[in-house]
Amino acid sequence: MASLAKDFFIGLSNNEFLNKSAKKFGARFGAERFVAGTDFDAVIPVIRELNKKKISCTMDHLGEFVTDREESERAKEKIIHMLHQINEENLECHVSIKLTQLGLDIEESFCIQNVEQILKVANDYNIFVNIDMEKYSHYRKTLEILKQLHQRYSNIGTVIQTYLYDVEKDIEELENVRLRIVKGAYKEERTVAYTFKEDIDRNFLEIAKKRLLGKAFTSIATHDHRIINELKKFIEEHQITKDNFEFQMLYGFRVDMQYQLVKEGYQFCTYIPFGEDWFGYFMRRLAERPQNLNLLVKDVFYT
Ligand code: FAD
Repeated sequence: MASLAKDFFIGLSNNEFLNKSAKKFGARFGAERFVAGTDFDAVIPVIRELNKKKISCTMDHLGEFVTDREESERAKEKIIHMLHQINEENLECHVSIKLTQLGLDIEESFCIQNVEQILKVANDYNIFVNIDMEKYSHYRKTLEILKQLHQRYSNIGTVIQTYLYDVEKDIEELENVRLRIVKGAYKEERTVAYTFKEDIDRNFLEIAKKRLLGKAFTSIATHDHRIINELKKFIEEHQITKDNFEFQMLYGFRVDMQYQLVKEGYQFCTYIPFGEDWFGYFMRRLAERPQNLNLLVKDVFYT
């Protein structure tokens, strides 16, 4: 049943017509619990509030699977504008980008050019840029682009999804690169990805522990209290200092736990999606946790 619901919402998240239609309406139907606003100005007060609570943020200007050059260029300009605002407003936050929003499905060199323009501005302001990991079909290209750009810019990193089988070698090659560790949000074939939660969780723990003992900064991105508790024990046992890793969660998820981790002295970063292209993101959150539907129903009937 859970797997059927997952397939259903993942199917919706990939539906081009629904994605385009939803853009016209703005974030609604419960999505505003997880999407902080449609433009960056509206989100600045949210970031300020979190910063006051010692929480840093990573900003995702929503958008993916773009096939139109002008749309990719507009997205790039918006991200660059956001970087200027982050600097001017002195906000404690960095940015997360998606290569398919910046032209990966159009032309690789065009995409690299766009990312490089973003990186240059971010580098001048000492702001970190994270490349989110998308579907497996983009995995190899994403890593190649990351490695290429990392030779020229140190302020770039990416994501490793622990549902994938063959990440061990990549993790080794990326030992000097800042990484976010996640379980993985897309529907992948059994030929490339684990489907059982136990396997994905075991791989998550193995990879996170390896990274925590390594040199480069690691973001542990999960809402799973079991994983977080086991890693907290590991961190204590190995006397790992708290300045070389952080926990990350998505905006609107397990907020009490976010505050609790900060109270316990851990670095914490909230991933904040914003923008008009909210539909695919929201459907993936429903796929992960159909209980989020309760919020949707409440919003429709009680507001
Ligand atoms: P799950 O396996 O979803 O949940 C494990 C358990 O935790 C549940 O059984 C439940 O007991 C508990 N739990 C989870 N959520 C809640 C809740 N809201 N309330 C109460 N209990 C809860 N995926 C990508 O593919 N690419 C990315 O670039 C990417 N970036 C991400 C960035 C961040 C900051 C985060 C947090 C996630 C990101 N993801 C990304 C999504 C990720 O891959 C997972 O799909 C998503 O985080 C769900 O997995 P989970 O680890 O949170 O735990």
